[in-house]
Amino acid sequence: MLELPEVRTISRQAREALTGKVITQVFSPTTPHKFAFFNGDGEDYKPLLTGKKVMSTEGAGMYVDLILSDGVVLSLGDGVNFRYGDASAKIPEKYQLMLTFDNETFLAFNIAMYGAIYAHRGDFDNKYYRQSKEKISPLADAFDEDYFNGLLRNEKKNISVKAFLATEQRIPGLGNGVLQDILFYAGIHPKRKIDTLSKTEKSKLFKSVKDTLKKMTREGGRDTETDFYGNKGGYSTVVSAKTYKNPCPVCGGTIMREDYMGGRIYYCPTCQPL
Ligand SMILES: [Zn+2]
Repeated sequence: MLELPEVRTISRQAREALTGKVITQVFSPTTPHKFAFFNGDGEDYKPLLTGKKVMSTEGAGMYVDLILSDGVVLSLGDGVNFRYGDASAKIPEKYQLMLTFDNETFLAFNIAMYGAIYAHRGDFDNKYYRQSKEKISPLADAFDEDYFNGLLRNEKKNISVKAFLATEQRIPGLGNGVLQDILFYAGIHPKRKIDTLSKTEKSKLFKSVKDTLKKMTREGGRDTETDFYGNKGGYSTVVSAKTYKNPCPVCGGTIMREDYMGGRIYYCPTCQPL
């Protein structure tokens, strides 16, 4: 699933490739998908998108927006995979929506588990979309240690660190994927309750949220996800589905894999004690 580093990367790549290009054709889904969310019927997108020019793009939280002419926006949510190619590239067999442009290129969107492809006029009324846009991004300077401690203080319940960081979108774009390395670098177990964190641990956690997300973004997203061109990101995940069979890079111990709160967690029980 796309999270902030991939959203920022794809937004930048799409801006570089598509600004000024005009959508020539819109293709309907090749295979219906139960959990592909459109507003209205995907067919309505044809008159809305055809002939529109890409003005810019925006990546915030879990969404990439293609900003089109006439105030139209195409918002792509976290479960959407992108594949952009030119006339020499093979068009994927399966997609939930495909656009072609006036420079002989195509952009196909495919959904793995679930995902939103929303064409709208800036009025996409979805809680997560609004939070993605309105809340302070962890990559912004305004997201400083005081702001982070304020988020912790405002949390009424004694919830786990995973619940605090990666649910409810308190921090836009931070989900269960990027969470794993953030906690590894902070040396904090995903099940630790936020009330038990010392001042030093809170500070380490804040620093890891900023530094890990910046590094992931700078390196073009994680190697477990794909970018605008369908290529894997340049950031090598430390604890993930890809690496958990390797020994911990710090202590050499075994990395644990567990299901916890609707998603896999990966951690080193020695470096991240409970
Ligand atoms: Zn370790």
